[in-house]
Amino acid sequence: MLKRGRQAPRLNRACMLCGIVQGMNQFRNEGCPNCESVLHLQDNDDVIRECTSPTFEGLVALRGSEKSWVARWLRVDNFVPGVYAVRIVGKLPDDIKSDLLAQGIEYRPRDGSVQD
Ligand SMILES: [Zn+2]
Repeated sequence: MLKRGRQAPRLNRACMLCGIVQGMNQFRNEGCPNCESVLHLQDNDDVIRECTSPTFEGLVALRGSEKSWVARWLRVDNFVPGVYAVRIVGKLPDDIKSDLLAQGIEYRPRDGSVQD
């Protein structure tokens, strides 16, 4: 399962809001496919570093919009197909959390500190 080249896992980052895992360049070029309208990651390395984390574990592939148990578990019902991290080390900065709250989005840290 060891892959080399552009898909090297250590170059990937997980979005701290939705959990999707993408390469740094993908976040830079396209932003987060789920959160771009609220996080504005595109072409903004600072925000990418603040809102995504290179440390994550428990990858799950979501294939589509089906309401699978995995999607419910990850709370990503309407998110785009892709690879998502179950646990992400790191938290969104406070100013971004306030921004999200102002837009009616409740951020739930995915680092294991919040239990359902
Ligand atoms: Zn996201």
